[in-house]
Amino acid sequence: MKFCSECGAKVIKKICAPDNRERYCCTSCNTIHYQNPKVLVSCYATWEDKILWIRRNTEPCKGLWSAPSGFLEEGEDLETAAARELYEETHAEIDRSRMQLHMVGNLRAMNQIYIVYRAPLVKPDFCTTEEASEVRLFRHAEFPIDDFAYPEVADNVELIYRELQNKQYDVHTGVLEGDNNIVRTVDRKD
Ligand SMILES: [Zn+2]
Repeated sequence: MKFCSECGAKVIKKICAPDNRERYCCTSCNTIHYQNPKVLVSCYATWEDKILWIRRNTEPCKGLWSAPSGFLEEGEDLETAAARELYEETHAEIDRSRMQLHMVGNLRAMNQIYIVYRAPLVKPDFCTTEEASEVRLFRHAEFPIDDFAYPEVADNVELIYRELQNKQYDVHTGVLEGDNNIVRTVDRKD
């Protein structure tokens, strides 16, 4: 950030008491511009033992495979956002009444929180879009893991397929520290 969105003057990074972190502060109107992580939502859309994936037609990782995902809009609830992104990228519809939380995680280096749902498709209808050059349902053994956009979280792919196969689902937390993806299952008995 270089200029103040309130008045257009230059901003500088500094600590303004009583705060204890550097923030972008306007040199003219003194507005403090707080910056916080963005919320990324995605949904594993399932059909039998398969999951719907897209070949990304946008950067980053154009040409590689990922789950349909995107950023939460202002005023939007999480589930609606996940279903919307899925529809925008694949034109697939999920059964919202069976949508469940799968994982909440933290991509610290990218300043993003990610929230992942899973839900069955209403029917296996989908198509390519501007954001997806290919849209496909893959069984576990068919998933092109070598062309996965985010190899640092490849364990997450294993996890969702395992749950789908066993029909036993949990909620997980994830923290990506460098290349180390730490996933923990939420223990609801404690
Ligand atoms: Zn200003």
